[in-house]
Amino acid sequence: MIRLTEIKLPLDHDEDAIGQAIVNKLKIQPEQLHSFNVFKRGYDARKKSAILLIYTLDIEVDNEAELLAAFEKDQHVKVAPDTNYKFVAHASENITERPVVIGFGPCGLFAGLLLAQMGFNPIILERGKEVRERTKDTFGFWRKRTLNTESNVQFGEGGAGTFSDGKLYSQVKDPKHYGRKVITEFVEAGAPDEILYVSKPHIGTFKLVTMIEKMRARIIELGGEIRFSTRVDDIHLDDGQVTGLTLSNGEQLNTRHVVLAVGHSARDTFDMIHKKGIYVEAKPFSVGFRIEHKQSMIDECRFGTNAGNPILGSADYKLVHHCDNGRTVYSFCMCPGGTVVAATSEKGRVVTNGMSQYSRSERNANSAIVVGISPEQDFPGNPLAGIDLQRKLEEQAYELGGSNYDAPAQLIGDFLKGKSSENLGEVQPSYTPGIKLTDLSKVLPQFAIDALREAIPAFNKQIRGFSTNDGLLTGVETRTSSPISIKRDKTFQSINTKGLYPAGEGAGYAGGILSAGIDGIKAAEAVALSMLENA
Ligand code: FAD
Repeated sequence: MIRLTEIKLPLDHDEDAIGQAIVNKLKIQPEQLHSFNVFKRGYDARKKSAILLIYTLDIEVDNEAELLAAFEKDQHVKVAPDTNYKFVAHASENITERPVVIGFGPCGLFAGLLLAQMGFNPIILERGKEVRERTKDTFGFWRKRTLNTESNVQFGEGGAGTFSDGKLYSQVKDPKHYGRKVITEFVEAGAPDEILYVSKPHIGTFKLVTMIEKMRARIIELGGEIRFSTRVDDIHLDDGQVTGLTLSNGEQLNTRHVVLAVGHSARDTFDMIHKKGIYVEAKPFSVGFRIEHKQSMIDECRFGTNAGNPILGSADYKLVHHCDNGRTVYSFCMCPGGTVVAATSEKGRVVTNGMSQYSRSERNANSAIVVGISPEQDFPGNPLAGIDLQRKLEEQAYELGGSNYDAPAQLIGDFLKGKSSENLGEVQPSYTPGIKLTDLSKVLPQFAIDALREAIPAFNKQIRGFSTNDGLLTGVETRTSSPISIKRDKTFQSINTKGLYPAGEGAGYAGGILSAGIDGIKAAEAVALSMLENA
């Protein structure tokens, strides 16, 4: 099979155009082309009046070898790589130990699935509830302000990305095509086929919920076991080797192989592992606000008269600005046609994040707009100091919002002018349970406020209307990535604790659903190989 890349066609091309483009590119007769498959489809919207679709195509042709030789120097005509996943191990019969996965977010889900597929009968422990129950608790908090600290946006089956935009792309290097395995498993669990080929796939919240249920059933069918409402409270160590776990119901579980996939919000678990002497380090993360605009404004700005075209969908953006004070401000986790959500897992704190449905049809676009901070500059000393800083900012937001889980908010124009907001403009807030208009500059350190005040007008040069007076800022965005890194060696084990495999976002090895899933696969492979070696 040959892979052709960078085949560009107009947005409104007709059905035959792809075949014709292949024939033209390879200078072959139409009969020589047997079939083609769209491997990826992206777009180039830099010229709004002439938006292009950009295809990567896998094709079957006569004389494949001859054509490859003829186009040897053309980097856009190559042999299609084999992206099918190949298992690295299979459990032998003498293996009786069951590996344990802590956390059932995307990382734990894929670690558990892969271990089950390789025959290792994993036990998966998840502090939160199964996804339907969790959905009730999470929506309950958004509607009635009753927070369940073990079942919320951060904790429960599916992990942090369950109530999300479900973006499924990442910039991690993936030479072994693990990302394809993640996407393929999602499609088998009911995700739309298009996630296999669009360049920026997303699935939205409700589809994710049903997919996760199917994947859970698959793991169980393959011999895995999943225990919900089961928090790991202690890790037993013997001479630097994991020997077992204490669970929140008091049970002791013996195991020498543990994937630690607890996400970035497991602050009590981070505290526990640090106290046990498991090596952790503070790492940079970012803080800021959610920004909301009308989605129609973003669509218009990015796509001009092509706004609303179903192939393009709701427009997104990605923005970066390097500020005079040395800080960098960037957009993060942009959710087209979505809503801002209350994402705290702890009482007396307010945290924002964003989600959407598959249709991305809500009236507002939202995105985190955040400033990078680092341990050296902003929270030196203790490896867990980043958590203290997050908590402080989240508490300030809670108080500024009225101490009832309303989020503090401010119109962009007022924020830039340094004056408290009193009335909403055109953009209606989507955050529930509610917002309180105020002066957001009180919630973040001055350097961050200065950086945001410089960056927002700068972003207006790329997206006209971005600094509109009526846009809305809501705070505070603190759970952008893990504030710690749990260092591991090339065998994927903690650098000072054998048998512990820190993985996913909480350990500092992923940032997003896809990369967390990929890291879960890698951790499962490492566990499987170690178990076989020691069997
Ligand atoms: P998590 O998903 O955080 O999962 C960790 C799990 O471990 C949790 O379920 C938790 O309950 C459990 N756990 C924690 N401690 C313990 C313990 N002691 N014992 C047992 N269980 C424990 N990413 C994207 O790529 N695209 C998006 O569109 C997107 N949108 C998002 C929207 C929201 C609202 C949020 C909150 C996040 C979003 N993200 C998105 C980020 C993404 O969700 C995370 O990067 C990803 O979920 C990380 O996966 P993980 O498995 O490493 O950790």
